[in-house]
Amino acid sequence: TDLAHIRNFSIVAHIDHGKSTLADRLIQSTNTVAERDMKEQLLDSMDIERERGITIKANTVRIDYVAQNGETYVLNLIDTPGHVDFAYEVSRSMRAVEGSLLVVDSTQGVEAQTLANVYQAIDANHEIVPVLNKIDLPASEPERVKEQIEDVIGIDASDAMLVSAKSGIGIPETLEAIVQRLPAPKGDRAAPLKAMLVDSWYDSYLGVIVLVRIMDGVLKKNDRVKFMSNGTIHQVDRIGVFRPAMQPVDELGPGEIGFITASIKQVRDTRVGDTITHEKKGADTPLPGFKPSQPVVFCGLFPVDSAEFEDLRDAIEKLALNDASFSFEMETSAALGFGFRCGFLGLLHLEVIRDRIEREYNIDLITTAPSVIYHIYMRDGELIELHNPADMPDLSKVDHLEEPRIKATILVPDEYLGDVLKLCQDRRGIQMDLTYAGTRAMVVYDLPLNEVVFDFYDRLKSVTKGYASFDYQLTGYRQDNLVKMSILVNDEPVDALSTMVHRDRAEMRGRAMCEKLKDLIPRHMFKIPIQAAIGGKVIARETLAALRKDVTAKCYGGDATRKRKLLDKQKAGKKKMRQFGKVDIPQEAFISALKMD
Ligand code: GDP
Ligand code: MG
Repeated sequence: TDLAHIRNFSIVAHIDHGKSTLADRLIQSTNTVAERDMKEQLLDSMDIERERGITIKANTVRIDYVAQNGETYVLNLIDTPGHVDFAYEVSRSMRAVEGSLLVVDSTQGVEAQTLANVYQAIDANHEIVPVLNKIDLPASEPERVKEQIEDVIGIDASDAMLVSAKSGIGIPETLEAIVQRLPAPKGDRAAPLKAMLVDSWYDSYLGVIVLVRIMDGVLKKNDRVKFMSNGTIHQVDRIGVFRPAMQPVDELGPGEIGFITASIKQVRDTRVGDTITHEKKGADTPLPGFKPSQPVVFCGLFPVDSAEFEDLRDAIEKLALNDASFSFEMETSAALGFGFRCGFLGLLHLEVIRDRIEREYNIDLITTAPSVIYHIYMRDGELIELHNPADMPDLSKVDHLEEPRIKATILVPDEYLGDVLKLCQDRRGIQMDLTYAGTRAMVVYDLPLNEVVFDFYDRLKSVTKGYASFDYQLTGYRQDNLVKMSILVNDEPVDALSTMVHRDRAEMRGRAMCEKLKDLIPRHMFKIPIQAAIGGKVIARETLAALRKDVTAKCYGGDATRKRKLLDKQKAGKKKMRQFGKVDIPQEAFISALKMD
C-alpha cells in the first residue's frame, strides 16, 4: 500500500470509557470480520485481561476502509496496554502510529489514566481526535466534557466526535475523521530496513510472534534479519497482518504494521523498542528510545506446600518465557524455605503473574511484602541495589540509603480532596500542585514508591468511594532516613516479614504490625511474644496469650471437631499455614500484617 493510503492510530482511554467497544464497532462496521465470527472485545485476548478489563499485550488489527472519496484506506489500530505498569510498552506503541483517538466517557470526563496516556500521545507528536463516547446515556454531558478536555489537556475539542460505541452512533463519522484528520505515515522504501519491535508474545504453535512497525525499507519472507540490541540473527519464516486473525502477506513496507515469526524460542530474546534490520546492508543506527525493561517491584513467591517447589519453578519458567519484563531468581528464606524472588513492572503486573500461577498451575502461594529497589551507599564507596529487605547489610558499613520516588497525579471530586491530602501526607508525600477543573481537583504529589506499592491504591479508592483516579511515574532516587525493621515471632526472626521503613514512623508501623499479627496468628498452647525490632533494639511488642484448657474445649468440642476434620480432609495438601519454629502463621498474615488502615 502506498503511504498516502495508510492511517495508523491508537485509542487512548481511561478504563471502562469504551475503548474495546469502540474498537469492536470499527472492526464490525468495516466488515473486517464476518458477522458470525464477531464476538465482543475482539482485541482483548487473555482471560485475566478480560476479567479485569485490562489489556497487557499490544493488540493490532488492520482494517480496509472505503472512504467517502471512494478510495480504499488501510487503517491500522494498535490497542495499547492501559495501565501505568506498562508505560514503556505504551510509549513504544505510540511511536508506531501517527495519531490517537482520545476516548472520553461523556458521562464521566477526563480521568488520571486518560491524562497519562494522552501525554504519551502528545510526546509522540500524535494528531489527536477527541471522541466523546456514551452519548446515548441521559447523563451524557458532551459540552462540559469538551471544556474539560480543553482545560485539563489543553487540546482543541471543538471538533470532538459524538459517539455511542454501544449503539453505533457517530461511527461512520469517526472512520472518516481518521482518514481526514490523521496524517499518513512517512518512510523511505529505498532506505535500509528499520522496523520497530512493538511487542512480542509466545504462541505454542508458531513460537514467538513479533509485532513490528516498518519505518524504512521493506521486509519480506525468508529475509535474514538482525535484532540490533543484541545482534542476534534470524530468518523470517512467516510474515503477515492481523485482521485480527493472522493473514500472510508478501511483504511489509514503510508505514505498515504486521507480524513476523522467525523460529525464535524465547520472548526474552525480543525486546520491546528494539530495531530490526537486515543482516546484510542493514541500517547503521537503531531507532531512538530503546530501553531494556526494568522490574521496579520485588517480592518473594513461596509455595504454601513446600512439596510444590518444583511445580512452582516450572510455572515461573514458563511464564517468564512469555514475559521479558518479569525476572526471578531462587531465594531461600529461613521461615518459608525455598521459593523465588521475583521482579515486576508494578503491582498490577505482580498480581497478574501471581493469579496465573495460582489459577493456571494450581499452586497456592505465599507472597511476601512487595519491596522497591533501594540504593545502599556503603562506607567503602560501593553501591548496592537492595531488592529484598532481608539482605540488608550490616548498618555499621552503610553510609546512607536512597529510595525511589514517584510523581503521582490524582483526580478527585473536591468533596474527597481532604481525605486524599491526608492519605498522601500520611505516606510521606510532598504536595507539588493542586488545580481545579470544575468540581474536580487535580493534585500532584511527590511520594516514595515504597509507600505506594503496597495498598495505596486500595486506600485511595476506599477513602474516595471509588471516585479518585490515580497515575504515577518514577522520577528518581532520594536519600532519606530508612531502616530495616524485623519481626520476631516467639523470639524467632521471620525474614519474610522484614520491611524497610522510615525511621520516624518505625515505632508506629512496628506497633501496628505487632497488633495485626496478634490477631492473625491463632493461639497456641503456649504464650507467644510478637516483636518489632530495628537492629537489635525492640521497638514494639505484643503478647499472644496461650490457649486455656476451657477455651480449647469450647472451640473444638463436639460438632465443631467433626466439621473441622471434614474441612481438613478437603484441604489436604493445601494447608494455608506455615510453621515458624513452633508457631503456625497463616498465609494471609504476610500481606495483611503490612496493610495500614
Ligand atoms: P474499556 O475498558 O475502555 O475497553 O471499556 P469497554 O469497551 O469494555 O466498555 C466499558 C463498559 O461501557 C461496557 O459495559 C460497555 O458495554 C459500556 N459502553 C461502551 N461504550 C458505550 C456507549 O457508547 N454507551 C453505553 N451506554 N455504554 C457503553
Ligand atoms: Mg477494554
